[in-house]
Amino acid sequence: MSESARPGELVEILESPEEVLSTLTVEGKRRWIYPIRSKGRFDRRRLIVAWVLIALFVGLPLIKINGKPAILLHLATREFTFFGTTFYPTDTFLLLLILVGSVFSIIVLTALLGRVWCGWGCPQTVYLEYVFRPIERWIEGPEHVRKRRNEGPWTFEKVWRKSARFGIYLAISLGLAHVFLAYFVGWDDLSSWLTRSPLEHTGSFFTMAFTTGLILFDFGYFREQMCTITCPYARMQSVLLDRDSLIVSYDPSRGEPRAKRGKKKLALEAAGEIPARGDCIDCAACVRTCPTGIDIRDGLQMECIACTQCIDACDVIMDNIGKPRGLIRYTSENEIAGKPARNVRPRTVIYVSILAVIVVALATLLATRSSFDINVGRVTGAPFVELPDGKIANRLRLRVRNQTGERVAYTVVVEDPAGAEVQFVGVSPIELEPGEMKRSEVFVVLPASDLPNGRRETTLRFDFGEGVSETARYTLLGPQR
Ligand code: SF4
Ligand code: SF4
Repeated sequence: MSESARPGELVEILESPEEVLSTLTVEGKRRWIYPIRSKGRFDRRRLIVAWVLIALFVGLPLIKINGKPAILLHLATREFTFFGTTFYPTDTFLLLLILVGSVFSIIVLTALLGRVWCGWGCPQTVYLEYVFRPIERWIEGPEHVRKRRNEGPWTFEKVWRKSARFGIYLAISLGLAHVFLAYFVGWDDLSSWLTRSPLEHTGSFFTMAFTTGLILFDFGYFREQMCTITCPYARMQSVLLDRDSLIVSYDPSRGEPRAKRGKKKLALEAAGEIPARGDCIDCAACVRTCPTGIDIRDGLQMECIACTQCIDACDVIMDNIGKPRGLIRYTSENEIAGKPARNVRPRTVIYVSILAVIVVALATLLATRSSFDINVGRVTGAPFVELPDGKIANRLRLRVRNQTGERVAYTVVVEDPAGAEVQFVGVSPIELEPGEMKRSEVFVVLPASDLPNGRRETTLRFDFGEGVSETARYTLLGPQR
């Protein structure tokens, strides 16, 4: 949608029956959008939120908790660290709960607050509106100038301005791609790669180059189409929202019948000298500011990302014409229809209850999660051997992971039966770095008399020092007598 189109044209275009998307012409070509930034109370708050989120995104891989980055998603080793707690491949259920909990959080948030994530928290919105578009305005000028230049022939000015803009975009995209990669490999590895030839780490180099290209393509070209065409979350709105969800909406009972008019006519209306019309003066400020090119006055639309720009734009108009703010505002479909607001309703109660169950389960599992992941198994081959002194030896395989943030060393003793002893194959005690998993083998040797019926439940105690120990049960085998 072009901001220089006349308001009448805008409404015609948007109400046209052939129109499929606000960003496409009827021929299916891209309709470039030049949204004007509306500075107002919501824009100021969104700006603060945006910079806090950007600072978090850049800072989280750098901040260390218990010696590890605040967030590290190490896909190669399938180890995921969140704020000091590392989850290992054996924590699949916990990770699944975190994933399901995150999905339900978004569902609850959407049912209560509509698309607040899209307008305030989504990286697509944050970076486009508060990083990339401001740079575009700074280098290429205001919307009407950019549109005229873009539609005109290539000139030296057009070339240098676009080159400068895309040069800065490329630098920012490179920076963002590196930060993004740091979430997966850690800042320490990344910074060491930066000082070495790409040939030494080709996989990560191409991942970084590809991510840079994607970011550049998205923010330099694709832009609002990510929200209106590609994003699956936008497609789910119709099932996640109901008539009580918070939305950004135009109030037709106040605004209609709309009519284009200036302060003179409005004064005559106020004096009762001409019939009064609705508060909407059909100025199209709300349309010109919309980053997805829609007209909020057409009702709730899938393309609306609830960015609140139309609220700020319309508030300025209302201030200018002496009408109360809020012709476009945060509300719900039911409130607009004159019904009372309802935050507590069956769907939100069910969603919140499910989320509460997930959170309690997660908290319980985390609180009872062992510091060591211990697995005992039997080595392949004969399950036991009879020793010359008549004792029975079972050869067992131990797999122990240190899930603490400290270096530890462990040994193993048999608690039950008392006459059994453990002999490590190789050195002991076994040392484990934080997060490290090691395999080892032991012989558990015990008198044949401790194996009535050829088997015996045993308790192995793993001592990690400083009074910390864990036990594991295992069945030892021997000859049937
Ligand atoms: S900005 Fe307000 S007054 Fe202007 S067209 Fe939009 S709703 Fe009407
Ligand atoms: S209609 Fe308003 S809230 Fe929705 S995307 Fe456009 S400007 Fe943002």
